[in-house]
Amino acid sequence: MTTYDLTLNVRRYDPDQGRSWVQTYSLKAGRIMRFVDLLRRINDEQDPTLAWGSSCEHGQCGTCSMKINGKPLLACELLVENAVAYFGTTVFNVEPLDVAPVIRDLVIDTEKAYERINRVKPYVISPKPPRSDGREQVISPKALERYVSATRCINCFCCASACIGGHGTFLGPNAMLAAIVRVMDSREQEKQERLRCLYSDEGIYRCHSSRACSFVCPKEIDVAHFIALAKAGALGSE
Ligand code: SF4
Ligand code: SF4
Repeated sequence: MTTYDLTLNVRRYDPDQGRSWVQTYSLKAGRIMRFVDLLRRINDEQDPTLAWGSSCEHGQCGTCSMKINGKPLLACELLVENAVAYFGTTVFNVEPLDVAPVIRDLVIDTEKAYERINRVKPYVISPKPPRSDGREQVISPKALERYVSATRCINCFCCASACIGGHGTFLGPNAMLAAIVRVMDSREQEKQERLRCLYSDEGIYRCHSSRACSFVCPKEIDVAHFIALAKAGALGSE
């Protein structure tokens, strides 16, 4: 079985001392080890103080998102052999996403990151009343087909980290996507509030159409396509 000699240069942060530094770990690993497995092995065998996060480890929750050699991705989905082939090296710089303050090492303050999502109210605010026959409103297959891929967003914030639109008050790609989903949702009556937000100074016109968001999305959502629809005023829900 192929084994790789890996070097992980991990960006660390100690909030008690306010100190940030890069710590190098060397380890041997088989080709189908994932990066979450590497971090766990470092905890078990070399350094129990290295802080990082994961939950489902099946690419469904976004907890293990981090930057590897500058690319935001899910550490649970990255196999060693794929990382070596993709980056052409066995040396990896591992950093936290830069979309919120770091709490410790690779762990960021996701509550802060979620403030942008919360600004767009990513839920149905004002549902259409039930139909005259008393049955609930349904989304037609044709309408759903236009945006169903966008509903697969797990808010891993990889796109927001890759976005060159400037962080600041910019909603960023995944918050805009959350707003767009509800504008395209035929069950929702309250469109204006989200459109005001999308077309505000914090919204789509800060997007440079670089498509970095689509490039890094682990759920293969073409985020930039949906932002382009919003720019074109083409988000109609039917
Ligand atoms: S759009 Fe993709 S990259 Fe962005 S938060 Fe959602 S799943 Fe992650
Ligand atoms: S296309 Fe727009 S939203 Fe997506 S990464 Fe580029 S600037 Fe950011």
